[in-house]
Amino acid sequence: MINFQYARASDVADAVRMIAADPAAKFIAGGTNLIDLMKEDVERPSRLIDISRLPLKSVEETADGGLRIGALVPNSDLAYQPLVAQRYPLLASAILAGASQQLRNMASTGGNLLQRTRCAYFYDTATPCNKREPGSGCSARNGLNRMLGILGTSESCIATHPSDMCVALAALDAKVHVAGSAGERTIAFADFHRLPGTTPQHDTNLQPDEIVTAVELPAQGFAKNYTYLKIRDRLSYAFALVSVAAALELDGDTIKQARLALGGVAHKPWRDASTEAALRGRAATPATFAYAADMVLRDAKGFAHNAFKIELARKVIVRALTQAARGTPQSQSNKKIR
Ligand SMILES: Cc1cc2nc3c(=O)[nH]c(=O)nc-3n(C[C@H](O)[C@H](O)[C@H](O)COP(=O)(O)OP(=O)(O)OC[C@H]3O[C@@H](n4cnc5c(N)ncnc54)[C@H](O)[C@@H]3O)c2cc1C
Ligand code: SF4
Repeated sequence: MINFQYARASDVADAVRMIAADPAAKFIAGGTNLIDLMKEDVERPSRLIDISRLPLKSVEETADGGLRIGALVPNSDLAYQPLVAQRYPLLASAILAGASQQLRNMASTGGNLLQRTRCAYFYDTATPCNKREPGSGCSARNGLNRMLGILGTSESCIATHPSDMCVALAALDAKVHVAGSAGERTIAFADFHRLPGTTPQHDTNLQPDEIVTAVELPAQGFAKNYTYLKIRDRLSYAFALVSVAAALELDGDTIKQARLALGGVAHKPWRDASTEAALRGRAATPATFAYAADMVLRDAKGFAHNAFKIELARKVIVRALTQAARGTPQSQSNKKIR
């Protein structure tokens, strides 16, 4: 047992003060990831700063027609929040594809963004892992890498980000509001998580003294033509092998705007602006969707046990875009993917 202190933050400024004063401290919200990591001896915080009672639990409409979601809104409340269910069903579907009802009741919006990879070596302190211990090596490159990355990997790390919610937030062009010693700032969702490069110990661009206070959604929710399709080893309570958030704005059969984000394939939710731009003005046909899949996956690279994910991702992208175009968002998991 490693001793740690516990303190409860009274407001956001207090939370920032406490984390700035002790770089080895950690915020705790729902605790569904952090406590597991402490039990496995992966995280050893000197102090837990409990932020779970801060007033960051509301969902509010913004002046420009979007939504501002407090960092402590539980995942289950968010999925069933009426405005989210009606206007951002892509986000609701992605949240409900993750974890279990009990976990979603505890898991917070901010904690979901900052949950850590599920690479088995990251959890196993007996093995080298550059993310857990920089410079020690990556056991996964030549090890059991079936669940790991095919896009944006580096020599140092091939881990994936495990969140479902974040894949939808990436597709929806969300923003992350944060507060720190230097004041408040807003980070575009695409810039929040990082690729591993040579510093895989850093999952995000959040500074050590910053707290996530809210996530903001723009007005456009793609509520008519969307799909979140998650392929996993069993139908519930499993992380994605590949997931796709697809959203389309159509004018008849012509694509006016497309959004495509992938989960389970990279160190961050994977979005490719050039593919989305190339879809604009094209007909929403199987040929177009196959072209999009090839384009997104053009630089994909598999390892010994996960090369199958490239072809799987190709099929999932085509199916997700097809379902989105038809306005039939539910994944038909009992049907074989062709
Ligand atoms: C068995 C199991 C299965 C799961 N399956 C899935 C799944 O299929 N899909 C999926 O998406 N997720 C899944 N999850 C992960 C779950 O969604 C996350 O554990 C959860 O979202 C984390 O939220 P939390 O509030 O509990 O975070 P915590 O555990 O409290 O914190 C996680 C990290 O975030 C930091 N943090 C928390 N809030 C803030 C904040 N506001 N500002 C700055 N830092 C903060 C903490 O310091 C910590 O480092 C699963 C988890 C478990 C245990
Ligand atoms: S893939 Fe990343 S998290 Fe997994 S062992 Fe390698 S360095 Fe660690």
